[in-house]
Amino acid sequence: MNNIKISDNFNLREFQCKCGCGTVKLHSELLRRLQAIRTETGRAVVINSGYRCPTHNKKVGGASNSQHLHGKAADIVIKGLPITEQRKICEKYFPDGGIGYANTYTHVDTRGSKARWTY
Ligand SMILES: [Zn+2]
Repeated sequence: MNNIKISDNFNLREFQCKCGCGTVKLHSELLRRLQAIRTETGRAVVINSGYRCPTHNKKVGGASNSQHLHGKAADIVIKGLPITEQRKICEKYFPDGGIGYANTYTHVDTRGSKARWTY
């Protein structure tokens, strides 16, 4: 299920809810920007969390209006880059979106307005 190549380096499965329900929503603009990061860095972009179904979002303590519920957010790790470099490239591609800074990953989303926070 969802084993579908959707860009040069991403498969739809990578974005599906991690609870095992198999559901997925994905905003095309989010995919476009993540692929651009993958292409520019030449590094694997690991999706720690993509789409979340409402049940899973509650379980992991996500915000009630989380962009993850709309297929517009991903928590990513750009393999082999220091976290500071990962944040810089996220800023380049999501200047008008949400970016959440965690120690081991970065949240990015295409909410359509600028937001910044630290976990
Ligand atoms: Zn789920």
